[in-house]
Amino acid sequence: MYQFKYHKPTSLDQAAAAMSAAEDGVFLAGGMTLIPTLKARLRAPSDVIDLAGIAELDSVTDNGDSISVGALTRHASVAASTAIPALADLASQIGDAQVRNRGTIGGSVSNSDPAADYPAAVLALDATIRTTSRTIAADDFFLDLFETALDEDEIVTNVEFKKPTAAAYAKFPNPASRYAMVGVFVARFGAAVRVGVTGAGACGFRWTALEEALASNFAASAVEGAALDASEFNEDMHASSEYRAHLVRVMAEQAVAAIA
Ligand SMILES: Cc1cc2nc3c(=O)[nH]c(=O)nc-3n(C[C@H](O)[C@H](O)[C@H](O)COP(=O)(O)OP(=O)(O)OC[C@H]3O[C@@H](n4cnc5c(N)ncnc54)[C@H](O)[C@@H]3O)c2cc1C
Repeated sequence: MYQFKYHKPTSLDQAAAAMSAAEDGVFLAGGMTLIPTLKARLRAPSDVIDLAGIAELDSVTDNGDSISVGALTRHASVAASTAIPALADLASQIGDAQVRNRGTIGGSVSNSDPAADYPAAVLALDATIRTTSRTIAADDFFLDLFETALDEDEIVTNVEFKKPTAAAYAKFPNPASRYAMVGVFVARFGAAVRVGVTGAGACGFRWTALEEALASNFAASAVEGAALDASEFNEDMHASSEYRAHLVRVMAEQAVAAIA
């Protein structure tokens, strides 16, 4: 690890001030991704601004037709929440108990790891990402591999998920890390359907062809005929792009069947 200045602000204003004064600052949340990156000397920030002292960011609030999850909320807390059972189920499948008790939703969405679980739910539940300076719609948030619409000095404060009529998440985990080889989140909002996919592409994306097919015929059999462009799907030591495309369809069928 290289040397850096450590800050522990207790308010968003203090965190923002520390970031603007830093030459090359970085925010720290659960540290599940950032700490190993620092230990491996893959990053050399001048300042690390730890958000863990900002108590207001650790909360799950039920707003009636939506829930707001504060950025510092651990995966274990979302797994224990009851307002959107499919979201709780997704959180319960992240990593292992240690990861779920340290990792945060703000860190997960800000990181935009291609194999993270939350992006599928953020997209399918038509979430809004609130930051210290604006609100960003889910469809505009995930841009590419480890790239989001966030500016470097912007702090995610909470993620607001719309409550669906029904929803389910199906995941094929990597047997070693538990990260998603592929995960598919299907959500019904009355007659409308949204489908979020993670693990397959550079970042989470919506499968709009399946959304249209399911809106007219909500059945697992609708998955087979839905067009899916796998030409830029991930290829790595764990799976070929063809295998990931196969998993996307299988996970989608499982999620639809769980709802239907
Ligand atoms: C062994 C292991 C297994 C895992 N398995 C899974 C899995 O199955 N599924 C899954 O989805 N994830 C998995 N993860 C990832 C983990 O759950 C965390 O979500 C992830 O590490 C990021 O969250 P964090 O709170 O640890 O963020 P950190 O590591 O602290 O930060 C990550 C990045 O986000 C930025 N950041 C953090 N919070 C904010 C904020 N509020 N605003 C702006 N930027 C911010 C940081 O600056 C940093 O760049 C796994 C991790 C490990 C180590």
